[in-house]
Amino acid sequence: MTFNDFNLKKEILKRLEEIGFEKPSPIQEKAIPVVLQGKDIVAQAQTGTGKTAAFGLPILNMLEKGQKALIITPTRELAIQVSEEIFRFGKHLGIHTATVYGGSSYSRQINHIKNSEVIVATPGRLIDLLSSGKIDIAPEYVVLDEADEMLDMGFLDDIKEIFKYVPSNRQTLLFSATMPKPILSLAKTILKDPEFIQI
Ligand code: AMP
Repeated sequence: MTFNDFNLKKEILKRLEEIGFEKPSPIQEKAIPVVLQGKDIVAQAQTGTGKTAAFGLPILNMLEKGQKALIITPTRELAIQVSEEIFRFGKHLGIHTATVYGGSSYSRQINHIKNSEVIVATPGRLIDLLSSGKIDIAPEYVVLDEADEMLDMGFLDDIKEIFKYVPSNRQTLLFSATMPKPILSLAKTILKDPEFIQI
């Protein structure tokens, strides 16, 4: 299998060639076609398996003008890493990414959020911006990355709260290295008829 088999936009295929991605990893092979069909997914994948491209590439392919994607990560380090990786993939699409985390200037982040198609955020700062009305976003795509880490770090209530602010007609993707019960029950409440993907 090659990336050409997914019918991705030429701007994405060109970029993958430039950055030296020759063939999809197992999680990418399984997840990309399902996400491109518009389905919600629960994907069990560890870091280092290529999970960022597994959700990032199909989202970039589907994002239309004026639409937004929201990616929630447990830590600032992961937010920066995911944001950089998505920006790298989206170079020929002119995609902008905003990275949102605590301890950094509000006004700069708010401006970046307004001007970016992809927002990568940690739960604390995101809930802060949403609940205070400082930002008002309606993402068509929402990704929970490393959901089990968020659970371990005590972010589960924040995550549930965040989903009160995002429209229900969205596509939601949940990635987690492990699938403890609270994650499966979260999946039940925030995902619609998800496909389960394991590698
Ligand atoms: P991730 O699991 O998303 O953190 O990805 C781990 C590393 O693998 C990152 O450096 C990616 O850029 C790289 N990577 C992801 N998918 C591929 C692929 N299909 N071919 C080559 N490298 C990849």
